Amino acid sequence: MTNKISPPASIGFIGLGNMGYPMATRLANAGYKLIVSDLNSSVVAKFCEESGSTAAKSLQELGEVSDVVITMLPEGKVVRKVLMDESGVASGLKPGTILIDMSTCSPVDTRNLGDELSKAGFHLIDAPVSGGVVKAIDGSLAIMAGGESEVIERCIPLLENMGKVFKTGGPASGHAMKCMNNFLSAGSLAIASEAVILGTRFGLDPKTMVDILNSSTGKSNSTEHKFPAFILPRTFNSGFFIGLMAKDLRLAVDLAESEDASAELLHHISRLWDNAESELGFKADNTEIFSYLENHATKTE
Ligand code: NAD
Repeated sequence: MTNKISPPASIGFIGLGNMGYPMATRLANAGYKLIVSDLNSSVVAKFCEESGSTAAKSLQELGEVSDVVITMLPEGKVVRKVLMDESGVASGLKPGTILIDMSTCSPVDTRNLGDELSKAGFHLIDAPVSGGVVKAIDGSLAIMAGGESEVIERCIPLLENMGKVFKTGGPASGHAMKCMNNFLSAGSLAIASEAVILGTRFGLDPKTMVDILNSSTGKSNSTEHKFPAFILPRTFNSGFFIGLMAKDLRLAVDLAESEDASAELLHHISRLWDNAESELGFKADNTEIFSYLENHATKTE
C-alpha cells in the first residue's frame, strides 16, 4: 500500500469543537479539501466561511466524497453512532477508505469497531491526541496512532499537520496509550492541587510553592503549565471540560477491568473526578478540580 494522503485529498472532518476546529483549520490551510459536519450548525457555518470548506448535507454524503474521514467527537458512543448508524458515514464510503478516530475513546470499544469496519472493507486508525487547545492551534499535538502500520504510514503527511505522530502498535493501542496518559495527567493535577491547597493552609504562598515545585522533584505538566496559566490566575480556561477528563478516567477503569487489574489508585482518582463533574457540571474546566478540592479541603463528619 503506497499512495500517501497528501493535498488536495478530500477529508471528511466530523466534530468542530474546542480541538476539532483548530485541527481542521490546519488541514484546510495545508491545502486539503474539507467537508465537515457538527451538530452545532453555527460552528459549521463559521468554519466553512473562514476556511472555504464545504458543509456536509448528510453523513452519508460526507462518506461518499471523502478519501479519509476524521472524527474528533466527545466519546466512543458518538463515534459509533456517526459512523455506523443506518445512514451514517459508513453507508456512503468507498471500499478501502481510511477512518481516523482522533477522539479519546475506550480501547475495548475501538477494537470491536475496528473489526466491524475491517469486515466491511474499511480501515480504522485510532489516533487520539494530547496537548490541548494551544497545541491544536500550533500543530504540535502528540498523536498516538494505533492500527495497521502501512495505513498509518499513508496518513502521516496528513497527521503531521496537526502534530508529531507516535506509532503505538496494533488496533486500539493509541486509545489505550491515551487513557494511560490521562490517568497520569488527571492524577498529577489532583495531587498537585491538594499539595498546594495544604501548603497554602499552613501559610505557604501558592505561587512560591509552584515555582519551587518546578525546580524540584514534584514537578509535572500540571505545575509547569496548568498552574501558571489557568489555576494561579484563577481563569480556569484551559479549554478541556472536566466531564471529558472524568470520561477518560472511566475509560482507563474499563481498560483495567478488561485486564482484570485492581488499579486502586485509578479507581480512587476516577471517583474523585466523577464527583467533581457531578458537582461542577460537565462543561466546567478540568483545572477547576483545584477549586473543587479547595471546597472539600475541610474534614466533615
Ligand atoms: P468539544 O465538546 O469541544 O467538541 C466536540 C464537538 O463534537 C462539538 O462541537 C459537538 O457539537 C460535536 N458533536 C457532538 N456530537 C456530535 C454528533 N453526533 N455529530 C456531529 N458532531 C457532534 O470537545 P473537545 O474538547 O474538542 O474534545 C474532542 C475529543 O478530544 C474528546 O474525545 C476529548 O476527550 C479529546 N481531547 C480533548 C482535549 C482538550 O484539551 N479539549 C485534548 C485532548 C483530547
